[in-house]
Amino acid sequence: MTSSEFMTEEGTGIIGSNAGRSRSHNRRVVLEFVRAHEPAGRAEIARSCGLSIQAVSNIIDTLQGEGLLRTVGHRAGMRGKPALQYQFNPDGAFAVGVEIRPDAMVCALLNLTGKRIFSRRKKLKDASPEKAVPAVTKLIAAAIEASGRDRKNLLGTGIVMPGPFGESGLSYSGAAVLSGWENINIKEEFEKALACPVIIENDATAAAVSERLAGTASEMNSFCFIYFGTGLGLGVIAGGHSQRGALGNAGEIGHIITEANGLPCPCGNFGCLETYASRMGAFAFLEKAGVNMDEGATLASLLEAQHPAMLEWIEGAAQHLSQAIGMVENLFDPETVILGGAMADVVIDALIEKLDLPKGSVANRPARNFPRVMRGSSGRLTAAIGGAAMIIHRTITPTVTVFH
Ligand SMILES: [Zn+2]
Repeated sequence: MTSSEFMTEEGTGIIGSNAGRSRSHNRRVVLEFVRAHEPAGRAEIARSCGLSIQAVSNIIDTLQGEGLLRTVGHRAGMRGKPALQYQFNPDGAFAVGVEIRPDAMVCALLNLTGKRIFSRRKKLKDASPEKAVPAVTKLIAAAIEASGRDRKNLLGTGIVMPGPFGESGLSYSGAAVLSGWENINIKEEFEKALACPVIIENDATAAAVSERLAGTASEMNSFCFIYFGTGLGLGVIAGGHSQRGALGNAGEIGHIITEANGLPCPCGNFGCLETYASRMGAFAFLEKAGVNMDEGATLASLLEAQHPAMLEWIEGAAQHLSQAIGMVENLFDPETVILGGAMADVVIDALIEKLDLPKGSVANRPARNFPRVMRGSSGRLTAAIGGAAMIIHRTITPTVTVFH
């Protein structure tokens, strides 16, 4: 995707290509009001939302037609005939989130309250756009069918992938990067293939959104999320807004240098965090130590077996992560730094236990509401859930805080 496309993506709302679903602000105001105050009648909605009865009636008819609202009988008013009451219908529509990794796809379906109704993970042999777009399309179709949902109720799809977006000095930096996507319009490609509205987001930002909406960070407005994909990413939520940078590439934390003249990184630098503390880094370290990862061993199983090489990797990775977390704290002053993503919970917990966080940090203060570092709560699905959650949020919440 090119940078200009990324910029226009923001703030446009997602419902653009689906004429049946208006994206008007009033519509979301009405939906949000009913959700918070259900059951509610037309007059009450009109009064509270500052809209005319006629406008509310039109909006309600549309929302009912789309299955987002349903009636729940009448309530006697002060005068006149009893008013028809409306209720939010959480299963009237659903959203899909798909995370594309260099070697796998993760798909999650959420209903309108953000409840997960289905999820599936599938290996991806070839992550080039030519192969991945049809593979994702097929995965989504199968997931919708398996979930028993009707495709006509699909609100849209959040496609989540590692950065960087567009051509840059990190475009060809090894196995953590999706190659071949630098110069195509990703949003357009997927909208064409899926025939529904699409949002594109970077995996770490989507993971942060997921934790903000229903996870570890649900009480926080400013926090950071270090995302373990194949490489490493950083999602930053500051004052309730996700920080994307000029070109959507903020948060490439994998390529900050935590050891001067350290290990060579495919990006051309030496001593990048990612070569020490990512899943990819772990596999490289273990292979060098003679561990055969082909025989079903996982990072979690090696840790549970207290394999010496795995313990050694944890020690080293935690050291590098500690430095990076110190930088993140001093740069963004977050309420906490969350670690999560494609790494097993036990491995993240072991990393957190071994952290030796710098004392010279603004986060090192006596009055804290949360620990300096926490584990994410959505596990391996976190980025896919974030993608779907962004679709739902843009559809039903008028006072959008996380997504501009
Ligand atoms: Zn690098």
